[in-house]
Amino acid sequence: MAQDETLQKVPPGERVLLLPHCLRPSQTCPGRPSKEGFQCPEDCRERCAIRRLREEALSLGYKGVCIAPGGALALKFIKKHEPEAVVAIACHKELAEGAEAVSELDGPVPQVATLPLLEDGCVDTEVDLDAALALLRQGT
Ligand code: SF4
Repeated sequence: MAQDETLQKVPPGERVLLLPHCLRPSQTCPGRPSKEGFQCPEDCRERCAIRRLREEALSLGYKGVCIAPGGALALKFIKKHEPEAVVAIACHKELAEGAEAVSELDGPVPQVATLPLLEDGCVDTEVDLDAALALLRQGT
């Protein structure tokens, strides 16, 4: 895929990861929303995809991870960090709307590599964790 080849040329330090907050386990998650996106307490021990992917991205050296409730906050995060590439995991609708919004940004437009959720529905959604990890690691 063309976008995957592009991502391989971008060092992790110039990438950000966007995750949807609907991936969290809604019944047991101790995290809290904030103006900067969903915040995970450092001592959270839940086995959840957000935790795994966030830890992987940060250990690879990504310049930021945003757990976003929606496209507006994700776009604000991109504007603040000005990455060369964005790895975005979300439902098909959010990915389509986000790609359009990013393409209309003033200034340099980052490359966007996307992975749609396996199952959406706005709560307790699912992602192919192996595919997501492989995407994060491309070119590293
Ligand atoms: S790691 Fe998962 S369960 Fe824990 S606070 Fe973050 S989203 Fe919630």
